[in-house]
Amino acid sequence: MREYVIPFDTAHIPKKYADVVIIGSGIAGLYTALRLPSHMDILLVSKGSYKETNSYLAQGGIATSFGEGTHEQFYKDTMICGKGESDTRAVWAMIHGASENIGALEALGVPFDKDEKGQFLFGKEGAHRVSRIIRSGDHTGKSIMDVLYHRVKEKDNIHILDNVFAIDLLTQNQQCMGVLIMNKGKVSAIYARATVLNTGGIGNLYAHTTNAKGIQGDGIAMVLRAKGQVKNMSYTQFHPTVYYNPHHRQKQSFLISEAVRGEGALLYNEKGERFMENVHPMKELAPRDIVSKAIMEQLRKQKKPYVDLDITHLQEEQLKERFPTIFSFLKGYGINMATDYIPVAPNMHYFMGGIKVNIDGQTSIHHLYACGECACTGVHGKNRLASNSLLEAIVFGNRIAKGIHTWWDKEPIAFKDIRCTAFHSNHAIMESQETISYWMEHYFSLNRSMEHVEHLQKQINGLNRSNKNKLTVEDIEKMNAVLVIQAMIKDDMQKRESLEGMTYGTTAKS
Ligand SMILES: Cc1cc2nc3c(=O)[nH]c(=O)nc-3n(C[C@H](O)[C@H](O)[C@H](O)COP(=O)(O)OP(=O)(O)OC[C@H]3O[C@@H](n4cnc5c(N)ncnc54)[C@H](O)[C@@H]3O)c2cc1C
Repeated sequence: MREYVIPFDTAHIPKKYADVVIIGSGIAGLYTALRLPSHMDILLVSKGSYKETNSYLAQGGIATSFGEGTHEQFYKDTMICGKGESDTRAVWAMIHGASENIGALEALGVPFDKDEKGQFLFGKEGAHRVSRIIRSGDHTGKSIMDVLYHRVKEKDNIHILDNVFAIDLLTQNQQCMGVLIMNKGKVSAIYARATVLNTGGIGNLYAHTTNAKGIQGDGIAMVLRAKGQVKNMSYTQFHPTVYYNPHHRQKQSFLISEAVRGEGALLYNEKGERFMENVHPMKELAPRDIVSKAIMEQLRKQKKPYVDLDITHLQEEQLKERFPTIFSFLKGYGINMATDYIPVAPNMHYFMGGIKVNIDGQTSIHHLYACGECACTGVHGKNRLASNSLLEAIVFGNRIAKGIHTWWDKEPIAFKDIRCTAFHSNHAIMESQETISYWMEHYFSLNRSMEHVEHLQKQINGLNRSNKNKLTVEDIEKMNAVLVIQAMIKDDMQKRESLEGMTYGTTAKS
């Protein structure tokens, strides 16, 4: 693996200049780039290809404000699912922005499923009381991302830099001037008038996740190092129905979309009992955290490490048409959805916390914006409503594009050589990423107790560190991971203290 010397300042390294630099080529990054005016010169940096993103994996669909039910009902479902902790203004901004931005996706060419009259087909998922979710088969993310990527490629003003790792923000006096990157063996600086972080969630901090490889909180760590604000860092979402392979557990686990339960799939424990009936009035379509907790409870009581998901009331042809990706994936493991139960268990899936932003995507650092899963608009509160994530990414991406436009002609910026990064004061971490993600899986899971979190903190405090003159991408990813985990622990402890009036022991306070 390549090793890099991280320079102290930008004085003697290669530099590029752009109007806007966007970090991340998921839905948030690509869509924001397309919504910015064509006269702006945009650089889009990402550590993988647009296919190596959570966006590409999205299955179920996008929640809309124009399906069944009223705006008020959509608002209420989002608030109830978020345990009343969602930010009211942000939720309304998302609902009011839905029509315009889904319309824009359609205009770009995204092929949403429609009936013979050309009307959207609306589906239902957990905690939605009506059918308001639109989709493109069971591969909504892929359909959207293929279109967005090709539209971006057509634009002369947007330049894509794939396989480029963003190390740190270039900031001075709480103003962002771009980003420091590693590219083809060199560290260089991209100076930009506006910087947008779209680096996604944190799934890979855990041993098992539905998330794409490499999605592990880098952007959030960059903001923490730049002394920017983050919010709700302990709010993680575990998806209840992730395929459980009894023979081989992989890090990247395959999601069985909530839309499958939306089509009537039921959950059974090893005794064949439909346990969700006694847990919540919405049964299998209860909010995700409730279904996940109920499954964990069953797993504690039973021998099998998974529960069964049953969609056998649908015919094979119906299943192949409605869930082509899931059907063929399971077929590859010898499971026929039309006749067999699907083994499922909860897995780390989504991050509600992140970089604190206002409803225009502005962070606490001047000229630095964030949207998508790395940002915390407050829309999702403590628990995200299904299919609100893609919607949030496009609505707030659009608001960022509009916001940048408003100050563009009024705020010139003079770029200068500045100190690069806070890395030199850090030490490389000797433990492997696997070890750290194992700790997260065990001590920061859905049912974590105060003792678990304290134990995790002890492990993190006791990490072996060593001074290295040169760092690899993996070294930086581990430093990022630890910084994010520390912020998650701190938030968890603060929330417990304020909620339960609890005081932590010496470990936690240190
Ligand atoms: C399996 C699965 C199914 C889902 N289904 C749905 C669904 O049906 N509906 C819904 O609303 N939501 C769904 N979600 C959630 C949703 O897909 C994500 O929240 C959303 O796509 C995140 O988009 P994003 O652009 O913020 O991040 P991502 O799409 O994850 O993209 C992050 C980008 O940041 C780049 N990056 C990260 N770190 C660096 C770095 N250091 N340097 C350079 N680049 C970096 C990555 O390379 C990548 O390009 C699903 C998620 C998963 C995992």
